[in-house]
Amino acid sequence: MENIILTGDRPTGRLHLGHYVGSLKRRVELQNSGQYDKIFIMIADAQALTDNFDNPEKVRQNIIEVALDYLSVGLDPAKSTLFIQSQIPELTELTFYYMNLVTVSRLQRNPTVKSEIQLRNFEASIPVGFFCYPISQASDITAFKATCVPVGEDQLPMLEQTNEIVRKFNSVYGETLVEPKILLPDNKACLRLPGTDGKAKMSKSLGNCIYLSDTPKEVKQKVMSMYTDPLHLKVEDPGHLEGNTVFTYLDAFSKPEHFAEYLPDYQNLDELKEHYQRGGLGDVKVKKFLNKVLEEELSPIRARRAEYEKDIEGVYRILQAGCEAARAKASETLEEVKNAMKINYFEDSALIAEHVNKYSK
Ligand code: ATP
Ligand code: MG
Repeated sequence: MENIILTGDRPTGRLHLGHYVGSLKRRVELQNSGQYDKIFIMIADAQALTDNFDNPEKVRQNIIEVALDYLSVGLDPAKSTLFIQSQIPELTELTFYYMNLVTVSRLQRNPTVKSEIQLRNFEASIPVGFFCYPISQASDITAFKATCVPVGEDQLPMLEQTNEIVRKFNSVYGETLVEPKILLPDNKACLRLPGTDGKAKMSKSLGNCIYLSDTPKEVKQKVMSMYTDPLHLKVEDPGHLEGNTVFTYLDAFSKPEHFAEYLPDYQNLDELKEHYQRGGLGDVKVKKFLNKVLEEELSPIRARRAEYEKDIEGVYRILQAGCEAARAKASETLEEVKNAMKINYFEDSALIAEHVNKYSK
């Protein structure tokens, strides 16, 4: 069996550090590992429309932003297929057939859907399209026969739902679809990176993000005003690490080499944490260090983005070629699905012969 990756992002804004540590960085490593036969990276515009149906302009404007972010982190169109969900109609068709395999109450129990319904104030009236997006996500994953889906922790319920659909389909119609495995970040701090405001998740919809395309000035401003420990008022006060976003980001991004280079008074993060908890270490010093650590990661990304920004038409050509390649693969799978479901009437010579026989008597 081939090793295939499918993952993606909603074009609801530019990509941020949460996407980077939760999924993007891993994708680039997997891409360059040479261990995967095919890598599909999807800009999920149709999914974004399920909760932004009244704002298609937002989705339209952000496709190029997400594509630029992909290229800037090192996704390479020669190795990874970058494509746009809505341009692959086979995905919608699969969704329609998978809908028969899922119950309303199962969708209602999906914890990610539950929390997103709350976040969007959809309690009173949930658009059907939004409610069903886990099914459409199952189509995206299975259409490419993905074996591996590198995503953040919030996607775990989606993968469970996908695997249930795969098992149900295969048991009803015969072995056709492949069960994917989720690949979560190894580093605990990266499973769900909090926002700069200390909220549980950095998210485009919450406006608490450091974007990969932010200028050094913007990054610094955001870092310097980040949520830390509200009880740590004076430098001498002992500080707390629990819920302290600056330290969570250091857990996610800092390496021992950064200390030698930018903060040689400390050997490593444990020593810095110890001092902070003891008291006598101010937030400003820690934030300045974090800013340098982030800059080291972000400046090559920014530079690569600047290069691609000079050739926007070229970026659109990359996406168009990606859509063609993705469509070819998805339509192969759709054909297999229709064969398994026996809705391939014109290719089914046995069926036609049977009916000829029935009426020739
Ligand atoms: P939206 O608010 O529109 O849902 P989002 O910021 O949640 O946007 P998505 O496009 O939904 O971003 O998520 C894309 C990928 O990035 C998913 O794999 C998701 O798990 C991951 N991801 C998003 N935010 C974070 C985060 N804060 N920490 C870790 N991973 C994240
Ligand atoms: Mg999301």
